[in-house]
Amino acid sequence: MNIMETKLKDMLSRVYKPGRYTGGETNSVVKEHGPGKVSIALAYPDMYEIGMSYLGIKILYHLLNERDDVVCERVFAPWPDMEAELRTQGESLFSLETRTPLAKFDVIGFSLSYELTYTNVLNILDLSGIPVRSDTRGEGDPIIIAGGASAYNPEPISPFIDAFLLGDGEEALPAFLEAYRALKDGGAGRNDILRGLARLKGVYVPSFYRAMHDEAGEFLWLEPCVDGVPRVIESSRVELENAYYPVKQIVPFIKVVHDRIAIEVMRGCPNACRFCQASAVTRPVRLRSPEKVRELCLKTYENTGYEQVSLLSLSSVNYPHIGKLAAQLIKDLKPKGIGLSIPSLKIDEAFYELPEMISEIRKAGLTFAPETASDETRKAIGKDLDITVLCRSAEIAYKHGWRRLKLYFMVGFPGEAEDEAERIISLAKELSELKKGVSGAPAEVSVSVNPFTPKPHTPFQWLGMRDRAYLEKVRSRLTGRNTRKVEVEFHDIDQSMLEAALSRGGRRTAEAVHAAWKAGSRMDSWREHFNYGRWKDAFKTAGLDLEEEASRIYRPGSPLPWGHILPGYGEEKLAAEFARSGFSPER
Ligand code: SF4
Repeated sequence: MNIMETKLKDMLSRVYKPGRYTGGETNSVVKEHGPGKVSIALAYPDMYEIGMSYLGIKILYHLLNERDDVVCERVFAPWPDMEAELRTQGESLFSLETRTPLAKFDVIGFSLSYELTYTNVLNILDLSGIPVRSDTRGEGDPIIIAGGASAYNPEPISPFIDAFLLGDGEEALPAFLEAYRALKDGGAGRNDILRGLARLKGVYVPSFYRAMHDEAGEFLWLEPCVDGVPRVIESSRVELENAYYPVKQIVPFIKVVHDRIAIEVMRGCPNACRFCQASAVTRPVRLRSPEKVRELCLKTYENTGYEQVSLLSLSSVNYPHIGKLAAQLIKDLKPKGIGLSIPSLKIDEAFYELPEMISEIRKAGLTFAPETASDETRKAIGKDLDITVLCRSAEIAYKHGWRRLKLYFMVGFPGEAEDEAERIISLAKELSELKKGVSGAPAEVSVSVNPFTPKPHTPFQWLGMRDRAYLEKVRSRLTGRNTRKVEVEFHDIDQSMLEAALSRGGRRTAEAVHAAWKAGSRMDSWREHFNYGRWKDAFKTAGLDLEEEASRIYRPGSPLPWGHILPGYGEEKLAAEFARSGFSPER
């Protein structure tokens, strides 16, 4: 039964930010459930403000709701105060649109964009009364599917998901739901439905594969255990130019992280930084024409009234029409008082043309990602960036009114210079001081440093993460060096360790995820809820050591738990790229 209005009001009166759970936002879609329609709840395993900033959810939500044969609703991970309310009141987690308990949907589709949200997936299922493990679900339970960046190594979450959909969802998800409906209408049971779905491109049904291990518990290979399922799962791709974009998209009532019109100008990245999973799993590069971007942008503005437009891609300066498009959009948007931002700028000569145009409207902070302060390491990781060009770009930006810079670095690459910490500080200071020559005062520079976490499907997938002692040493050399103009922030080492252990784990790692959730872990990406000790114990319960898993080295040619997934280059090409870096797994 759907939750009673009065009871919900009462519960919401006791939680922080009730707007996370009310739905009813402008442009949200409420449709009737009923015969002849497939119902799907798109679930984002983090809180509303994060999920509603994610473009993928908006695209799929509106795309599916434009179909008469689909009812698509949303659900986000409830914050612990709302979880406590649901549990004490004995209520199921419900969708935002019609407050339908999740267990009543035909399909629940999770977007996995970060490994530290995995326990939220289990929690959402449990709060909905759906068995968390796929092998204990029955005929009446929804089919649980998942996609997104983290799904490219599905194994650490595979016992909880019935089917993964790998790649772009714009064509694959409607095709999946059509196939589901045909199988269901034809009288197929749960297992036969999954067998039918497993034949579609980009679909991986983990229960149809058995993971083989040696006596020491080391992964050997993944073996199909039913006929007709592929050995290698290739991901789906769409052309961006004509890919669906929701011009009448939801406008949240409460402030979300990215409150603006976000339009993808390019999918994929022509650069191939060897650590970068985002680029590795979105090949090949696809473009949207400037005419199309402009048309979508103006239509979306009419329907939403947003005051900011963001041109989205992994590296927007590599979009070949960026100058022309930015100039045209500024002409269109400036009279309406709308700002334009272009995140993810890679620095090269093309950047020199941009600040003048963008500063017409916006003089907020500018973000650069040199990744390392050492030229040798930068070459080894394949980051095509010249520090002289970076300095020149910063100077030009200062001349056009920018006052703040944000710099992203990673530490922990093999063979990293002893004095990497000092080099980072000195580069940040140099960039800050450059502004003195332009306007007499140094710039504010914030430096964000992340431990390097090797990711599947990249040329660095075989490397282990650097050990805790090393990372703590670099952190102590970096922090405490804050000045009034240069501020350093070092990402939590414990969370990075867990991310590394989960991102390259296998099926045994899934047992650690289950144990951590059972012990109370959820909202692990939020420092105030993250409990590293609990995670270490959970890995022990699964017979694993968390930090050994994080620093695990795989030899090129040895079996990889994600080897059956093929999103981009095959292993041979990745191994050649790895060799070109000059890094060795042993360091
Ligand atoms: S430029 Fe950015 S998105 Fe592109 S490959 Fe390098 S790190 Fe990845």
